[in-house]
Amino acid sequence: SHYHPNYQNSNLKSIVNTKKSSSELIAQALINHISDIDHEVCEAGEEDSFFVCDLGQVYKSFQIWKQNLPQVHPHYAVKCNTDIEVIKLLEQLGANFDCASKNEIDTILNLGVSPDRIVYANPCKTNSFIRHAKTSNVNLTTVDNCQELHKLSKFHPECGILIRIATDDETAQCRLSTKFGCSIDSAINELLPLANELGLKVRGVAFHVGSGAKDFDSINKAVKDARIIFNKGIEQYGYGDSMNILDIGGGFELETFEQSSLVVKSSLQEFFPQTFIEKYAIKFIAEPGRFMVSNAFTLATHVIARRDIPQSISEDITAMIYINDGVYGNMNCILFDHQHPQAFVLKHKDTFHYQEQKIVNDATKGKHKFSIWGPTCDGLDCVSTQTQLDYDVQVGDWIYFPNLGAYTSAATTSFNGFKDKAHIIYVSSETIATK
Ligand code: PLP
Repeated sequence: SHYHPNYQNSNLKSIVNTKKSSSELIAQALINHISDIDHEVCEAGEEDSFFVCDLGQVYKSFQIWKQNLPQVHPHYAVKCNTDIEVIKLLEQLGANFDCASKNEIDTILNLGVSPDRIVYANPCKTNSFIRHAKTSNVNLTTVDNCQELHKLSKFHPECGILIRIATDDETAQCRLSTKFGCSIDSAINELLPLANELGLKVRGVAFHVGSGAKDFDSINKAVKDARIIFNKGIEQYGYGDSMNILDIGGGFELETFEQSSLVVKSSLQEFFPQTFIEKYAIKFIAEPGRFMVSNAFTLATHVIARRDIPQSISEDITAMIYINDGVYGNMNCILFDHQHPQAFVLKHKDTFHYQEQKIVNDATKGKHKFSIWGPTCDGLDCVSTQTQLDYDVQVGDWIYFPNLGAYTSAATTSFNGFKDKAHIIYVSSETIATK
């Protein structure tokens, strides 16, 4: 079957279209949206920043995952981008879900998704949320400490448990093991025996090597550690009937997936050989977030102000430009996710510009140097201290930022009274066949 968005119940504007490339569709949608906006006369907010989402890119990422890691079932990390059309598409493609809270669980269940497609992958849970998971029949969660086992024993004793272990995530841009994950020693000498004593069902092991890792040895080490815990659980605590899930977490990126997926494959083969998989009916799952959505969203912003900087004050920039989105809005990823959004000119004076995404290096940088600032009154609200653009942008021009799908719209604020949820225009560069 094909993916047919329900136009009546959603704000989907578009259309499955295989004739145009992703860039062409995005350019068309961006330009259509801004071409009628005259900043000299428009209503307040008409020139707000907005996204164009190419659902075809989500579809492609999902296919790449299936091709490279067919044995690992992706559970999309909803926290990464909670856009309902993205979630519905991934659901239709057969992805399951990683939820971090009651709200995320409800978002997924409200779509009619079966609760057994959810992993409640937050090792430190609110008691009432645990009770909610129980009444909602969400029966799989991650745990990394003894208190959490006691809480589960009290509020959701039938819940399956994945022991979340810490990883060696020093090379990751976003480290998670400083906050979550127990040592193997603690898993073996504290969590397994306590779970056994409390009569809890240990289903397996989970880890997350952090996001933006450059070194994938951490994956190999984590899979190796996981196997040690499986052995202990099965041999010493009799969990042979229930321990059958290895959750390899998230952190995967499209740019490095060829390499990271090879390390996953070889590590699984090394530590979870076919004989072991068959004997215990082992299943592999993962919690990719950014992998599915990063390149699917392009943000368009309006230049609201410009302050020229005399050369005697700075040689690095010719002007400070102020746009209507920033680190308190959809570019919070600069603060929270160590991202560096790349700016390109969309409209300068009366001319539209859009280019295929290019790698920006010294040779391709534009000659006009700016610092770029968000709209709030806070000095922290800086999008870029120096960006080189192709045009000498002015108030009323538009700038776009590709690759802003991950950890952007999910964590916006309305600080200083700015709108926290941007309008999204959907296109699809792929004809999307679903399960
Ligand atoms: N799983 C867990 C438990 C996480 O904390 C996160 C991100 O924080 C993810 C999955 C998704 O990570 P990414 O978007 O880097 O794939």
